[in-house]
Amino acid sequence: MKIYCIIIDTMPFCPEVLEINNMVKGDLLRQVSGCYTLTSLAQMLTGKLSTDLEPSGIGYGTWSDRLDSNGIVDWKWLETSIPFYLWKEKDFKFISRNLDILTVLFAFKKYPQFYKDSKGYNEAEQHEYIKRIQGESKGNTFHFLNYRNFHDACQRSYKFDGDALYKNQRIAGQEILGYFEKDWDFSEPDSLFWFFSDHGAWFHPHFHGYPFVQNFYTWAIVKDNLENPIDIKQKVISTQDFPLILRHKFGNVPLPEFSKDRIFLTEDGRAGIKLKEITTAIACRFKNWSGDFPLQLSYLIYHHPADNFLQRKVKFDRDGFTIDEVVDTSVVDEQLKEALISKFTWVP
Ligand SMILES: [Zn+2]
Repeated sequence: MKIYCIIIDTMPFCPEVLEINNMVKGDLLRQVSGCYTLTSLAQMLTGKLSTDLEPSGIGYGTWSDRLDSNGIVDWKWLETSIPFYLWKEKDFKFISRNLDILTVLFAFKKYPQFYKDSKGYNEAEQHEYIKRIQGESKGNTFHFLNYRNFHDACQRSYKFDGDALYKNQRIAGQEILGYFEKDWDFSEPDSLFWFFSDHGAWFHPHFHGYPFVQNFYTWAIVKDNLENPIDIKQKVISTQDFPLILRHKFGNVPLPEFSKDRIFLTEDGRAGIKLKEITTAIACRFKNWSGDFPLQLSYLIYHHPADNFLQRKVKFDRDGFTIDEVVDTSVVDEQLKEALISKFTWVP
């Protein structure tokens, strides 16, 4: 069996996501993720907020405090993560193709069943690599591959206007579709594909500002070619649901049912504000559902630099694209506020 976790770093929910889904013929999910790679992946692989893993959450530089004398990042919570569960229960090896940040997230030197397979993002190399792993069968393997095209588009557009970002994102979208068409066989038997984005274009419009909905309301696409394909009934999930879904798939653990009024919690950490701490806490809930997807979102942010709460209201069209996002000056949703205060000890 193979699991392919394919991260398209920084790709917001945009028309090319729908094109990817048409290509792979998968199941489209929307998800509340983190606002940058490390917290998103920590949430995804452990099912917890980074605030539940480390006293101040996982900021950009927190890892440097966890280095042991051998130069290994010794996170105390690693063995609670889903790759460990899959290794213990189903003998999965975890192989990161090119995601450097996982060398921080995982102590590769410490555990031989977790390793980094290769380096770089060279197109020809990537093509050969994918052909090879899709052609071989080495027991159960959990592959993690990263596409940086949207991340690079975002960096190229830094300090430019929104048009530059928009144009660079369209180019990145076509590049991704081209690679997918050329490199992958998405009908590979005995495999599960999980495509996702970890966050949106994080420093637009302002590097230190409050996050916007596109930063944390991302997407995933599931294509299950294994026996008894998974049926995820609730199409709006949290990144933190990933371990629940895999435990359900591979361990027959029941998948909890969440109400449509579920409060989602997530977080952000801006290195320029605090290098080793989470700096922003977000609680949100969806409203006005049209079938599987919502037409509205309310979210409350506590943002450390501003030392203040901000509530916003978002409207989506029926495809899930944002129509309108405004500051909500009505009474603060006390349940969202309570959820923030009870989870994040530093929120007043
Ligand atoms: Zn990222």
